[in-house]
Amino acid sequence: MNEQLKLLIDLQRLDSAILSIRLNIDTAPAKISSQEASLKNAQRAYEDASRHHADLEKKKKNKETEIEDMSEKARKLKQRTSEIKDNKAYQAHLREIEKAEKDLSAAEDELLVLMESLEASATLMGAQKTLVEKEVAKIEAIKRENEKDIIKMGEELKKLKEERKTVSEKVDKDTYNQYINIIKTSRGIAVVEAKDEICQGCNIHIPPQLFVEIKAAEEIVNCPQCRRFLYYIKPEQAKDSP
Ligand SMILES: [Zn+2]
Repeated sequence: MNEQLKLLIDLQRLDSAILSIRLNIDTAPAKISSQEASLKNAQRAYEDASRHHADLEKKKKNKETEIEDMSEKARKLKQRTSEIKDNKAYQAHLREIEKAEKDLSAAEDELLVLMESLEASATLMGAQKTLVEKEVAKIEAIKRENEKDIIKMGEELKKLKEERKTVSEKVDKDTYNQYINIIKTSRGIAVVEAKDEICQGCNIHIPPQLFVEIKAAEEIVNCPQCRRFLYYIKPEQAKDSP
């Protein structure tokens, strides 16, 4: 095979690997931000549960004050009973005591219901807090993993760039410039396989005479449509090719 073509194939392999690593490095922070959305949801749920709990606490306190006032009222009413001499007034007074005690008992029932709700809301709040802690731990783990990956990818990138430098220095200046121009205009792919008489870059059918030249691989051949450099892999070599 033409030496320059071999170098171009190598250059393309390196550039594709470099591009893919750069993309992975660039998208690493996105993994965290998608996880951060779950954390925000968990935090919001915890805040809602806390707000609800505080609300119930306040209601409980109010109910307790209400009950204190009511039992004081009932106690005072009972105290006055002996002072009432008139029978009609006495009957009315008893009815008033009865009502006060009924109201007090109803308020005490309401307090019990509130206390049960408080217990349930405390359980819910605890569960939501655990969820928030789990989400925080997940993000920490992803961050640590990302940092490790980025260091590893950085080392890999350095190695590839050095390799690329060695290869690119061997490519003829004109050919190299042409390669760079195609890379820029053809989504990062300048060297492609010609397979079954078809350019794998743009899918055009390659004229038979040109395909024979590509197979011979003595000269560098460009695709008549997309201008990419074309190379041919013999079927028995396909398995070993990159
Ligand atoms: Zn093409």
